[in-house]
Amino acid sequence: DAEVVLVGRSNVGKSTLMRELTGHTFDTGQRPGVTREPNHYDWASEDFVISDLPGFGFMKGVPEDVREQIKTDVVRYVEDNAEKILVGILVVDGKSVIDIIDRHSGEDEIPHDVEMFHFLRDVGVPPVVAVNKMDKVDDRDQRLNDLCDRLGLYPPWKQWQETIAPISAKRGNLGALEAAVRHHLHEAGRDDLF
Ligand code: GDP
Repeated sequence: DAEVVLVGRSNVGKSTLMRELTGHTFDTGQRPGVTREPNHYDWASEDFVISDLPGFGFMKGVPEDVREQIKTDVVRYVEDNAEKILVGILVVDGKSVIDIIDRHSGEDEIPHDVEMFHFLRDVGVPPVVAVNKMDKVDDRDQRLNDLCDRLGLYPPWKQWQETIAPISAKRGNLGALEAAVRHHLHEAGRDDLF
């Protein structure tokens, strides 16, 4: 009955992360843009589920209207289930997230990642940003401070460790994410789950 969801653009490493967290192999070879149902998997305890939602944003060869539909479906799923979702893990690619956000910031454009971050908060789901692929990032503190800035969180990032979790899913380096999730479960009075 309790749930954690993973959201994020395609190719940020959601499937890799899901595999690391659950030990279960997911089909990562899925054709991009094919709308699929959320993948639910037991996590840490039997009544605690982790769900991987379809990736949104740019995907090569996927038409705009299909991409929009996927995002709408993700948003609807979170809205409909907000009450039981204890944490929303927004996965981003640490290597490219700042460039992508800046490229899509404009007068009437809000970047997907920024929009999703605020959306989670608005529906009462505490967001944790899993900044993945940190193994490829050299200027770690600068990158994470920049991300805070783009999300409207006052830097330095170390003040936001319950929200900003640098990880490397591929290397199985997930300590920061687990700590952040544990923090929110504690806040929700659900230490029993994890
Ligand atoms: P998804 O589309 O979000 O499910 O992304 P995938 O899990 O399929 O990963 C996309 C690509 O990123 C794959 O080539 C992964 O091997 C790679 N990847 C995932 N996590 C990491 C990471 O922590 N570090 C690096 N360097 N690559 C990663």
